Amino acid sequence: MTLGRVLVVGAGQMGAGIAQVVAASGREVLLRDAFPGAVERGLATIERSLAKLHEKGGPDPATVLARITPVEALGEADLMIEAIVEQADAKKELFRAADEALPAGAILASNTSSIPITELAAVTSRPERVIGMHFFNPVPVLALVEVIRADQTSDETAEAIVALAHELGKTPAEANDFPGFVSNRILMPFINEAAYALMEGVAEPEAIDTVAKLGFAHPIGPLALADLIGLDTCVAIMDVLHAGLGDPKYAPCPLLRRHVAAGRLGRKSGRGFYEYG
Ligand code: NAD
Repeated sequence: MTLGRVLVVGAGQMGAGIAQVVAASGREVLLRDAFPGAVERGLATIERSLAKLHEKGGPDPATVLARITPVEALGEADLMIEAIVEQADAKKELFRAADEALPAGAILASNTSSIPITELAAVTSRPERVIGMHFFNPVPVLALVEVIRADQTSDETAEAIVALAHELGKTPAEANDFPGFVSNRILMPFINEAAYALMEGVAEPEAIDTVAKLGFAHPIGPLALADLIGLDTCVAIMDVLHAGLGDPKYAPCPLLRRHVAAGRLGRKSGRGFYEYG
């Protein structure tokens, strides 16, 4: 299956990274966002990232950027990769619209961290062509793509997405459609427990993150990682784990909720567990 033209919807931190790696693989990218200025901000992020990679021998930034076209409509593409806000209703609405707008043979993929792919597939007329393609942040740097099959996903679709992941220079890991898949089923309770440790006064943020970095050899501590992911996204994922698995151990820590309510979303808002310049 040729996936030569890819529509990326959502030009935030993940969508921008996905557009970048897809364009760097030589494919044509259409980039869309629902909010004014978001695509421009996404393109500026891509430009900065490409410039840094170019210094280390990466591709010519202008050539890669020239393959990315901002679009208003959900146009003609062989594949959509959705990277909008982590809200089931918003994603379902987009999947319905994409199902109507894209050619019948196109694959519809979601970069969701936790929302069931089976539910997204069910709102379309092509459930066998719907799949999870879950990248990791920062997308141009991290090698993993978690590939999640909905109950309805065909072998042909899964094979095409696994092949694409390899062509993007990533390593795919296949998972079934359980809440949080593999990655967030493991990562989010870890981050949540770090938030409880902070809330209960076990240690300061720096000490909690130092334990994970030096004690467990993690490149980044759980609180700094939560700030990178976005605390709103972390709460949204914990809510899905809690609702989907039904165990109270997955309920989001009140401190995470309080930060989100106060607009302290992490790096993207300038402040979360830490402050950013
Ligand atoms: P973000 O807030 O940086 O970006 C989301 C973008 O989507 C924004 O630009 C917003 O304007 C746009 N958007 C919202 N609703 C839209 C709609 N209906 N149509 C078009 N655009 C819309 O968020 P992000 O961190 O890039 O996360 C995006 C998705 O990727 C989420 O599903 C998230 O769970 C997932 N994800 C995030 C991470 C991470 O580390 N942040 C990692 C893996 C997966």
